[in-house]
Amino acid sequence: MNIKIQTNSSDKAFNQYLELINEGLPNGETLPTSFYEVKKYMRDLGFGYTIIDACPNNCVLYRGQLEAARECPKCKEPRFKSGKQKDVALKRARYSPIMDRLQQLFTTKDLAKDMRWHKDKRVDDDMLRHPTDGKT
Ligand SMILES: [Zn+2]
Repeated sequence: MNIKIQTNSSDKAFNQYLELINEGLPNGETLPTSFYEVKKYMRDLGFGYTIIDACPNNCVLYRGQLEAARECPKCKEPRFKSGKQKDVALKRARYSPIMDRLQQLFTTKDLAKDMRWHKDKRVDDDMLRHPTDGKT
């Protein structure tokens, strides 16, 4: 997924990479065979996200009280593309809950050690050595 994102590869190209890599793997080894499967796998690992429609001018997210709104209450821009049979949002935002991401950072010993660096490794002697040593 990291290579796909960094190279801006299409889903079709990514599927072809997976197919090629799978052909080279020994029997019994498994790797997802499609972009869809990779996304599902990542969601199961806690790297999922929620898609929320947004105003094209970044005024509001259509959630909560605005979930059923058809235009932005601030700038009056329509929420959906016109001329489509189904409602297709003009802009969408992806939201990843912070707690899920933080929990993932503590799942391996090495990452958890890095996450605790501020608490475990810093010297607490009233000297200003790191921005977090300051009161603010
Ligand atoms: Zn707006």
